[in-house]
Amino acid sequence: MTRILVITAHPDDETLGAGGTLARAVRAGNDVFVCVACDVTTSREPRPGPGVLERRRAEAGEAARILGLAEVINLRLPDQTLDTHPRLSLVKRIRQVAARWRPDVVYTHHPGDPNFDHRVVAEAALAVARPHAGSRVRRLLSFEIPGWTAPLPAVAFLPNVHVEVVRTLDVKLAALRSYRSEARTYPHPRSPRAVRDWARARGAAVGLPAAEAFVLLRELERS
Ligand SMILES: [Zn+2]
Repeated sequence: MTRILVITAHPDDETLGAGGTLARAVRAGNDVFVCVACDVTTSREPRPGPGVLERRRAEAGEAARILGLAEVINLRLPDQTLDTHPRLSLVKRIRQVAARWRPDVVYTHHPGDPNFDHRVVAEAALAVARPHAGSRVRRLLSFEIPGWTAPLPAVAFLPNVHVEVVRTLDVKLAALRSYRSEARTYPHPRSPRAVRDWARARGAAVGLPAAEAFVLLRELERS
């Protein structure tokens, strides 16, 4: 059994980036844990009305159940502010969570993601998953959030791992739909239809009906 840790900035990133792969891993008998840096608040709505936070937390809980996640821990930091948050403090908090779960495989954002929160979390995750004696982490991968990225080689997402998600794409879309507060309509890249099309395009690129794409940042084989 493999212990998988997903380190994300926001609730719903795990679904958008790797929902089909995570659901597939759970079905294969593995444990998937998620550490989310930011709370369900959004900078678009600084003072949400009564019950809004509870509703959003319930939505995230519903998505976690649909994907079959073993546990989700939210660090409850305010979103769209992580680039001003002390880095060491963020790394320490994620490290505490990772130490508890002792993962074999870690997924996080792409370090070149255009969203500041995503980029900060990716950097923190790289620090947390740094190879050291006693670490169990043998694979470190980054996922993409569907949408535009700058055409700059330094930040390009160039996948070298594709996971077929033909049997779990519907699970991913069901989890995505449970985030009702974040609902987007087509052709927004995070709308369910665009996310499905994205998975089909990623799959077609490697001869599969549907896939999620990742960049393998490190793989370590121990004897
Ligand atoms: Zn996000």
